[in-house]
Amino acid sequence: MPTLEECKEKVEQLVQEKKFYNQRKHVPLKLLFAFIELGEAGNAWKKGMPEEAIAEELIDVIFYVLDAWRLACPDLNPDEVFDLKWRKNMSRPIRYGEGYRTLEDKYKN
Ligand SMILES: [Mg+2]
Repeated sequence: MPTLEECKEKVEQLVQEKKFYNQRKHVPLKLLFAFIELGEAGNAWKKGMPEEAIAEELIDVIFYVLDAWRLACPDLNPDEVFDLKWRKNMSRPIRYGEGYRTLEDKYKN
């Protein structure tokens, strides 16, 4: 299985081979495309499409995020940043979501 860094390199290879937009000024466009792919994933979910179809749209999101990443922050390794962010989020107290509601209910009355 490839790491995020390796996936980023594969996306760069795809961009160069297919002659997609490939300049730093194109970062906002790539982020827009990531949002469009998120919409496609949501639409696939809404239509009850098979999970493989939803997964393909979600991978498209990751492609565009990594494509934006390599142009916006080329000196940062996404695996390292993922790990740092994961640790940061894990260390935070529960502040929202179902877990928070459960805590709120626990201390009611
Ligand atoms: Mg798509």
